[in-house]
Amino acid sequence: MTATDVAADVTAPGPMTPRPYRVVARRQDTHDTATLDLIPLYGEQAHWRSGQFMMLYAFGVGEIAVSISGGALPGEPLRHTIRDVGAVSHALTQTKVGDVIGVRGPFGTSWDAMDAVGGDLMFIAGGIGLAPLRPSILEAVRRRGEFRRVILLYGSRPGEGFLFTDEIEEWERLHGFTVHQGVRAGLADVVNDPSFDPAMLLTLACGPDIMMEVAAKTLTDRAVPPQKVRLSLERSMHCGIGLCGHCQLREAFMCVDGPVFSYDQLVPLLATEEL
Ligand SMILES: Cc1cc2nc3c(=O)[nH]c(=O)nc-3n(C[C@H](O)[C@H](O)[C@H](O)COP(=O)(O)OP(=O)(O)OC[C@H]3O[C@@H](n4cnc5c(N)ncnc54)[C@H](O)[C@@H]3O)c2cc1C
Repeated sequence: MTATDVAADVTAPGPMTPRPYRVVARRQDTHDTATLDLIPLYGEQAHWRSGQFMMLYAFGVGEIAVSISGGALPGEPLRHTIRDVGAVSHALTQTKVGDVIGVRGPFGTSWDAMDAVGGDLMFIAGGIGLAPLRPSILEAVRRRGEFRRVILLYGSRPGEGFLFTDEIEEWERLHGFTVHQGVRAGLADVVNDPSFDPAMLLTLACGPDIMMEVAAKTLTDRAVPPQKVRLSLERSMHCGIGLCGHCQLREAFMCVDGPVFSYDQLVPLLATEEL
């Protein structure tokens, strides 16, 4: 290593340094949810895997974890879908095209949805939980011929509204997805269907804890292997790299060991009182 290499290495931004990204498009999805498309001011677009999250920084306000909701194809901007629930999410959803925010990441584990190739793939989403699933849904659309059934169960709380309704209609009509609005009823339909084969099913779920817990119990009670039920856990995260301990639960750091866990990994964690 030369002195110049060392200097470049020392001054290179580390995982705690936000990189400036410009908002190049903004879409209002529901009354309180907006999707931002982002491109870096300099350097390359981040390489990420479906299920991972970024730390988004609204300058002067604060930083939050936000899952990646799109932008997997070369040349596509990084996409995030954000629900306005507090100080930082409010500032981010209020940005306009041309504004600059800070981005760190990607962090965390992936859905690995392609483990379902040759079998059935089910997405279970509650509210904003559809956003972290969207990159894997789009991958399933692109590789539709490699799966048997692709199922989407999607529910939202009264008044919350539904995300990506135009796309959901296309996934059902053009790509043969089986779509159920409402998670509980949809789940009953799936497991009571005579063609239901628990050994062939991979399930990816994101939404309120109670929704994911009921879904995981229902599926594993019907002999779906717990390793094939994957859940994304949203816990308060600060550093994103397993240093600060903010999201630590027993031996697990939600930001590096998660946010996507298989149900067998989660059972002992969910049994602890702190969660
Ligand atoms: C891995 C991971 C991925 C995430 N992905 C997304 C995403 O894709 N889109 C997104 O919008 N958010 C996502 N979040 C949540 C996000 O990080 C923030 O927690 C949330 O936006 C609140 O931050 P805030 O500073 O705006 O609100 P705060 O000031 O922290 O909270 C204000 C109020 O809102 C309540 N609140 C906090 N979080 C939520 C919530 N998630 N839903 C409802 N009420 C809440 C609090 O209890 C409080 O009363 C994710 C979190 C994690 C850990």
